[in-house]
Amino acid sequence: MRKTVIAGNWKMNLSEKEAVSLAQSIKEKIPPKSKDRVALVFPSMIHLASVAKLLEGSGVLVGAQNCYPSGLAAFTGETSPEQLKEIGVGVVMIGHSERRQFLGESNSFCNEKVRFLLKEGFTALYCVGETLSERESGKTFAVIGAQIREGLQGIESNSFSKLILAYEPVWAIGTGKVATPAQAQEVHAFIRKEVAGLFLGAAEVAQSISILYGGSVKPDNIQALLKEADIDGGLVGGASQKIDSYAGLF
Ligand code: PEP
Repeated sequence: MRKTVIAGNWKMNLSEKEAVSLAQSIKEKIPPKSKDRVALVFPSMIHLASVAKLLEGSGVLVGAQNCYPSGLAAFTGETSPEQLKEIGVGVVMIGHSERRQFLGESNSFCNEKVRFLLKEGFTALYCVGETLSERESGKTFAVIGAQIREGLQGIESNSFSKLILAYEPVWAIGTGKVATPAQAQEVHAFIRKEVAGLFLGAAEVAQSISILYGGSVKPDNIQALLKEADIDGGLVGGASQKIDSYAGLF
């Protein structure tokens, strides 16, 4: 059975006080694994330690929105997985479209990060998705196929249990334009097929991997998305940053 994960991406939003207060409300209002849904939140880096401490032992998982694929070293402004481990963070998001678009992250750099994280025992949430112009010019599957193949190359078969994928069409992020369940399902099924083709024997791995949908997910559209065979949860930005809308996803 694949895990249903309801992940909240707080991005570069919220003050320290707001982040801690949201975490406290999540702890009170979202019972661990309620309705078999796993809660996972990604505060911004500066709030990570306080939120991780507050949610320790609550069943709510806490992840980082990024990391640098190295142990402690001279990479000014970056964060090592080793430092994340020390504050109890065991999940890292890689390849969010905002990092690809605005910070120039390539599939190969994402691959370096995913491989490093898995080797260090972290769970990696790897994001893929096409832009509006890529969709309109019929390139959706080519773009996503490359993001999957290049982003996941060289990963050992036994590490896939620590990997979560997210399909986030860029045109649906923060725009209020959610993909229809059928549009999302079509891409999720394609992603599963691509994973199945990564190496000999990957068919079973592909069936067991959770693929989340992201892009304007709200309490009123999540149920229809989750009914689709290959949609195993949501990666949610705006609606995860307020307790009522985040709790409404469970
Ligand atoms: C996101 O940040 O990954 C996201 C999907 O944002 P939103 O839910 O606001 O579209």
